Amino acid sequence: MSSKKRSARARQREEFLASLDGTSMDDVFSHEERRRDRMDERREAALRHKACDSKQRYGSRAQAEGAIAACAEYGMTGLRCYRCTYCHGWHLTSHATTEQR
Ligand SMILES: [Zn+2]
Repeated sequence: MSSKKRSARARQREEFLASLDGTSMDDVFSHEERRRDRMDERREAALRHKACDSKQRYGSRAQAEGAIAACAEYGMTGLRCYRCTYCHGWHLTSHATTEQR
């Protein structure tokens, strides 16, 4: 009950501050949209870094599979390769599904 009251008050305060700016609700909405877009870009960049930029890149599946075979000789098993949707090269992963895009 009291938390409901608080959030209603917070909303009133936001609307009041927005009115001081002369900011219409449309502007607030598009502001929010742009903010979300930037967050998506950041998340996308982080994903790309993890899945692509931070990894060794192979020009072909054969090269990637060669690297997997070489790793297996050193006891690193369970690797597989996948076609990268970012750079269209090949990367290795030890996770069977999570990094497949
Ligand atoms: Zn890549």
